[in-house]
Amino acid sequence: MQKQKYTKREFLKLGITGAGGLMCMPAAVAGIGGRNSKPDELWKWSKEAMFQTETPRGVRCMICPNECTPKPGELSDCHNRINKDGKLYTIAYGNPCAVHVDPVEKKPLFHFKPGTHAFSIATAGCNLACLNCQNWTISQTTPTKTQNFDLMPDKVVKQAVHYSCESVAYTYSEPVTFYEYTLDTAKLVRSAGLKNILVSAGYIHEDPLRKLCKVIDAANIDLKSFKESIYLKLNAGKLQPVLDALKIFHEEGVWLEITNLIIPGWNDDFDMIKEMCDWLYDNDLYRYPLFFSRFMPLYKLTQLPPTPAATLEKAREIALASGIQFVYIGNVPGTKATNTYCPKCHKLLMERRGYSILQNHIKNGHCAYCNEPISGVWE
Ligand SMILES: [Zn+2]
Repeated sequence: MQKQKYTKREFLKLGITGAGGLMCMPAAVAGIGGRNSKPDELWKWSKEAMFQTETPRGVRCMICPNECTPKPGELSDCHNRINKDGKLYTIAYGNPCAVHVDPVEKKPLFHFKPGTHAFSIATAGCNLACLNCQNWTISQTTPTKTQNFDLMPDKVVKQAVHYSCESVAYTYSEPVTFYEYTLDTAKLVRSAGLKNILVSAGYIHEDPLRKLCKVIDAANIDLKSFKESIYLKLNAGKLQPVLDALKIFHEEGVWLEITNLIIPGWNDDFDMIKEMCDWLYDNDLYRYPLFFSRFMPLYKLTQLPPTPAATLEKAREIALASGIQFVYIGNVPGTKATNTYCPKCHKLLMERRGYSILQNHIKNGHCAYCNEPISGVWE
């Protein structure tokens, strides 16, 4: 397998944006797609959108709770769909702006095929508008404004195999907005014997989600807070659809890991965190890992400090006391809370440093010391 590392400068030259990966695809392999110079015209990477419905106000997108009805020539709120002569088209099909090979631990997924790599793709656009977005340069823009790769679904599979990835991840921005590309790619990925990973805010309607779940193996879903008023102000979204989505992933048998990014002054209320953990427990989601992730001052919240480590540790204690079995802390170098401990005998089962695994005492999905089942997809 040929691996090539790029400097930051080379990354920029190739137009790679978003979170940095181990490497990106050489442009000669992927084929840089370029921009659409006439955004109001359909282009090579346009495809008729799924889940659109006629209404008296015009054609409406029914993929996510935004339910956009863009006027002819206009884009949806997620910047990824256009109304062309009364029909909706996705404009980023096979046209990702970010392509990397990442350790699966970076998604983050700690209980899903540890130590393997995920071929990771994203197009521009998002159906939320989080004030703290770390990938805002690609999430809060449109595919016609990013430098993109020409990477149709069959090519994604070939590249994933070429780079010895065991999975393909739809990530960085918001795969709900490039739904058709995700779905078609995921079907081909499955038939090639690889797995599919969704990294998403889970802001999606039930029908499209259930359809997607049939081909998704694992998901990391952001649960951004546990209050409607915070979702509205911080994320320009709603909480309830995300809670519904979490239950649907569970029902559909998708391996789930949940991330709660704690932002000082926004969602660091411990009573709310306790309420959230109790909800996860009551809805049978306590065997899935929960990550409390550290906020870094970015995008529109640069005036805030990073989350104190003590806040994350306190949240972790609350979650463990609520019965969540595996609680991790993200974005804090040196914390022991990236290790996996047995929920029964409390021994160290998996020691992690960065994205590396230093020790692993999970044998056939069980604790090597007390034989307690450790939930996850280990093989
Ligand atoms: Zn044990």
